[in-house]
Amino acid sequence: MARTADVVVVGGGANGTSTAFHLATLGMKNVVLLERRQIAAGATGKSGSLVRMHYTNDVESRLALESLKVFQDFADVVGGDCGWSPVGFVQLVKHQYREALHRNVARQQTLGIDTRVIDDRELRDLLPGVVIDDVGGAAYERSSGFADPNATAFGFAAAARRLGVSVETGVRVTRVLVEHGRVAGVETDRERIMAPTVVLVPGAWANPLLQPLGLALPLAPFRIQISIFRWPPGWTHRHPVVIDAVHHSWMRPEGPNATLIGVELGRSGADPDTYDEGVDPQFVQDARTTLAARLPAFADATMRGGWAGMIMMSDDGRPIIDQFPSIPGLYGMVGDSGTSFKTSPAIGRCLAEWIVHGTPKLVDLTPFRSTRFAEGKPWVDDDHYGRERLTISR
Ligand SMILES: Cc1cc2nc3c(=O)[nH]c(=O)nc-3n(C[C@H](O)[C@H](O)[C@H](O)COP(=O)(O)OP(=O)(O)OC[C@H]3O[C@@H](n4cnc5c(N)ncnc54)[C@H](O)[C@@H]3O)c2cc1C
Repeated sequence: MARTADVVVVGGGANGTSTAFHLATLGMKNVVLLERRQIAAGATGKSGSLVRMHYTNDVESRLALESLKVFQDFADVVGGDCGWSPVGFVQLVKHQYREALHRNVARQQTLGIDTRVIDDRELRDLLPGVVIDDVGGAAYERSSGFADPNATAFGFAAAARRLGVSVETGVRVTRVLVEHGRVAGVETDRERIMAPTVVLVPGAWANPLLQPLGLALPLAPFRIQISIFRWPPGWTHRHPVVIDAVHHSWMRPEGPNATLIGVELGRSGADPDTYDEGVDPQFVQDARTTLAARLPAFADATMRGGWAGMIMMSDDGRPIIDQFPSIPGLYGMVGDSGTSFKTSPAIGRCLAEWIVHGTPKLVDLTPFRSTRFAEGKPWVDDDHYGRERLTISR
């Protein structure tokens, strides 16, 4: 007889483990999480793991804010240590987006986010030696920062296990089973597991599972790179996390004496099964140049490492989170678009609420619906900073 479960979660990244954890906390029994390799084998394990509330729309800010509460209180809410580092966060924009930044900050303040616009003096205090000629506005979040993405997923998985979830690694789901027009379970490389509810959270590996179901979503896997630079002599300042929308880059401290930087130039399409996990020499040059353009002290900084990871971009650069209407019982968080580590605690909570209570209660997920592309209504933010479809890897 085939094995059965109440819910099968496919994917052991931050979003899959968070979903499994939250299902268990809401009382769901017989939950199985299947991961083809190890926990955090996908984008999560490679994430820059910035946790900031500053988005150019309310719904992602709300997901980030609800998630921040979990990062801040991880030991009590989940258990274990997620490596939370509240170093603060700075958002920089070009002159032409100054008003948009002010409007976004005002909206975020009404959501209860600890954010404010800062002047040049404060910016210089936060980032000694910063070049600001091309900066038209800066926002500061005192309570934001970054976490350890591996520790976060490990923490969710361990907590889910403690609550009775069967977390199984080294098991690949080969297809989703549909019977009589609704989801019936999954087939793995070992066995069939019959289940009335399946949650797909497979990151960059989503298409082989979605396409046979007729779910032709506009999703493309991308390889994203980061590089790490040792602080130059005399630099001892553990700076805040920065998103530099002028140079399309982001940075955060890495360890006690280095800075990790990502630059959007570093993205390219790739096969998630064969991609190169190392960093390209040209990317290292570009990253150093970009870093030094904002902080000239880093012009000769020593490269100390780097890596590449795979994300799944949707056509409008926003995740798809849905109960797929054409297949009752099938839920998914796909098309993470390189921005879904920081929101994973709330996304998992919302998916679990949807499954257990029939609707997500924490945050309304309607804007993330899978049908928005077919409706001809891809996501667009009014107060974006110029590359509204390129919110990647941060
Ligand atoms: C370099 C880099 C920097 C980033 N920086 C940030 C940042 O600063 N802030 C931020 O919020 N986000 C950032 N991101 C994005 C963030 O890491 C991802 O959005 C997030 O981790 C996605 O989590 P996930 O659980 O949805 O997917 P993943 O972490 O990709 O997990 C999917 C899992 O599913 C498994 N899987 C796939 N197919 C199957 C199958 N058929 N059967 C079983 N298992 C399967 C995979 O092995 C994988 O472990 C970054 C990403 C990268 C690569």
